[in-house]
Amino acid sequence: MTGVRATAAAASTAPMEGALSRLKEIVGPAGILEEPEEMEPFRVGFGGAFRGEAALVLRPASTAQVAQVVATCAQARIPMVPQGGNTGLAGGAQPDDSGRAVIIALDRMRRVRAVDGANDTLTVEAGVTLAEVQQAAQAVDRLFPLSLASEGSCRIGGNLATNAGGTQVLRYGTMRALTLGIEAVLPDGRVFDALRGLRKDTAGYDMKQVFIGSEGTLGIITAAVLRLFPRPRVVETAMAGIADAAAAIRLLGLARARLGEGLSAFELMRAPSLDFAVAAVPGLSSPFAGRHAWYLLIEASGQAEGDGLRQALDGMLEAGLEEGLVEDAVVAASGEQRRRLWGLREAQAEAQKHAGRGVKHDISVPVSAIPDFIARADTALQRAFPGILPFAFGHVGDGNLHYNPIVPRDWSEATRAARQGEINRIVHDVVAALGGSISAEHGLGQLRVAEAEHYKSAVELDLMWALKSALDPHGLMNPGKVLRAQP
Ligand SMILES: Cc1cc2nc3c(=O)[nH]c(=O)nc-3n(C[C@H](O)[C@H](O)[C@H](O)COP(=O)(O)OP(=O)(O)OC[C@H]3O[C@@H](n4cnc5c(N)ncnc54)[C@H](O)[C@@H]3O)c2cc1C
Repeated sequence: MTGVRATAAAASTAPMEGALSRLKEIVGPAGILEEPEEMEPFRVGFGGAFRGEAALVLRPASTAQVAQVVATCAQARIPMVPQGGNTGLAGGAQPDDSGRAVIIALDRMRRVRAVDGANDTLTVEAGVTLAEVQQAAQAVDRLFPLSLASEGSCRIGGNLATNAGGTQVLRYGTMRALTLGIEAVLPDGRVFDALRGLRKDTAGYDMKQVFIGSEGTLGIITAAVLRLFPRPRVVETAMAGIADAAAAIRLLGLARARLGEGLSAFELMRAPSLDFAVAAVPGLSSPFAGRHAWYLLIEASGQAEGDGLRQALDGMLEAGLEEGLVEDAVVAASGEQRRRLWGLREAQAEAQKHAGRGVKHDISVPVSAIPDFIARADTALQRAFPGILPFAFGHVGDGNLHYNPIVPRDWSEATRAARQGEINRIVHDVVAALGGSISAEHGLGQLRVAEAEHYKSAVELDLMWALKSALDPHGLMNPGKVLRAQP
């Protein structure tokens, strides 16, 4: 059935204690965590940057249980914080310090509900991990292309709620482009059932889009219909050493022209971030004899067996060498060599820890503006904070950089924290001047709410508030994330 189903969500003045007992009854003993040490892993975000308090952690096992939990919380005015794999990087899955909220973890909703090979779709519940979705697709000889370094832990509900990106967006798009249908529980407990596997549907507003990327502030996603793709038969991977970001963008144009739709990843790393990756992770090494200022990881994939794709990749790199865009290049000759090249890219988070204290940014600008962004942000930061170390990597083919300068070594953590706002302002002003976004793929969470308020227009903020107020008039669904908490 498709549509909005009503549940008994009549207003009530049920006291908090009564509501908590009712919540425990709904999920049963297997779905409740209330001891501080049991709740701790859910209260702390990835890397320990965010922590909150919670009255309970609830782990419903079905959509019906989620709906009953949400209706009960709504009646008792208990704030709710949805959580998936807890790998988010913006503090979106952590409650505030009041201890009033409940965390609603979707990790027990693990069913693959349907596989439709002829329609190329997979219907899964929100708690299935991304790696499990990839495996389920592989089991029917298909590809689910979303790929993140956190894929063993992050869950599909979290991927949807953050509109996750990753390394294959260039070819397949973000989570939004990979989703045909959604089931979500609204902030009053009603179930919005739009689990449709349709590629064309112009019957009114596309309401599922409202929930994708809403970071749990408009409802709880319980299931989704995902798009599957043919599994590539051939994958070719190369790494190129280049002189600057302008060369990267010109080479991207060349790669698009030579490899067409086959181009699936185009990732940029700056010299220091590659050096720190090699230093931080045993077994990693640079594939080049010399050092280059920047590195590109380029991947192409296709269906046609044979060496046509390899020839196209080689041809593109040779043309890049002739045009002076490429200083040196290697092409992986085996699966092991491919894994070693990707290992350098996937070690960037480790590399960053090894490099020192940093200030993280997840920005996007038009692809053509990437060189300008780097030049302007580097110059402005060096002028303001001499000794700051440039550190950047990211999905440059999508115009998305994790631009995370490392602060001077003599700064204490307190100094870094005190100056983070100034650094953000310098970087985000450049982003804004170039028509970019201060959050490309990690979401605003609680980390970037004030920054978003600073840069978004009054009209855009009004529209966001109109949506929030219409769906969640009491501000109970993940308060303080994306938008400021209502007083
Ligand atoms: C090493 C590492 C690498 C990463 N690389 C990338 C990358 O390349 N690209 C990228 O986009 N991200 C990346 N991330 C960030 C993170 O993995 C993604 O944001 C991911 O989509 C979060 O999924 P999760 O299940 O862990 O969500 P959580 O962290 O649990 O939650 C994230 C947000 O979604 C909400 N939420 C979770 N589940 C639901 C639900 N069912 N319904 C409604 N709201 C919900 C939460 O309230 C929160 O606001 C990386 C993280 C790490 C640690």
